[in-house]
Amino acid sequence: MIDECLLLDAGTVSFALSLEDQARIDDVLLTHAHLDHMVDLAFLADNMLDMRQQPIRVWGPQSVLDMVQEHLLNNRVWPDFTQIPSPENPVLEYCPLPDEGPVMIAGLKVSWEQINHPVYTVGYLFENDNNAFLYSADTSDTEAIWKLGRECPKLRGAFIETSFPNRLEGLAIGSGHMTPRMLENQLAKLDRDDVPVYIFYMKQQYLDELHTELSQVPHPCLTVLNGGEIYEI
Ligand SMILES: [Zn+2]
Repeated sequence: MIDECLLLDAGTVSFALSLEDQARIDDVLLTHAHLDHMVDLAFLADNMLDMRQQPIRVWGPQSVLDMVQEHLLNNRVWPDFTQIPSPENPVLEYCPLPDEGPVMIAGLKVSWEQINHPVYTVGYLFENDNNAFLYSADTSDTEAIWKLGRECPKLRGAFIETSFPNRLEGLAIGSGHMTPRMLENQLAKLDRDDVPVYIFYMKQQYLDELHTELSQVPHPCLTVLNGGEIYEI
C-alpha cells in the first residue's frame, strides 16, 4: 500500500485492513492476474458497496484487466462490480494502462516493464519529484525492470519477491519465481548497491531456509519483510 490510497495487487487487503482503511483506497494497480494477486478485488468490492462515493480505479495492462473480467468478476464466479450498484456509479472501474508509459496514478509517475512470469506480468517504477522505488511482485530471471531501476538516479528502494529456497531452483524457474541465488544474479543486473532491497512474498513452508539463504546474499542493505512494515521513501 502506498500513501494509504494506492494498493499494489489485491491478495489479502480485505483481511489485512479495517473497513475504514479499505475505504481510503482510491486506486488498485495490478501486476498480473494470478489468483493471489487479484482475488481480493472481489471482497474489497463487496466490502465497499456502500462505503464510498466514487469507484475504486483498477489499473493494469489491458490483458490483465481482461483476465480479471473474464475469470473473476464475470457474473459467474463473482458479480461484475463494474456494473454494481449501477453502471453509472459502480464500485470498481477498469483503467487500462496505455501501451507505453508513464502515467500518473495517485500523484506518482508510474512506469512499467514486462517481466518473466508464466502469464503476462509487469513490474513497476514509482517516482515523485525526489524519490523513486521499484516493485516487482512475481518474477523469474528477467532484464528490463532492472534496467529501469538501474537508470533511475533517484531510486531509493526495490521491493522484490523471493519464493523458493536454492534447492528448488528448478521449481522456481518453472513457476516463474526466484530463489536467493537467482536474486543475487538479478541484483547484479540492477547494479545499485546504494539502494535498499526489501524481500517479500516468501512461501511460508520455506521461511526458515529462505531467511538463512537470504542472509548470505551479498548486498549492503537487504531486508526481509515480515508484513506490516512501514517505510518512508
Ligand atoms: Zn504469479
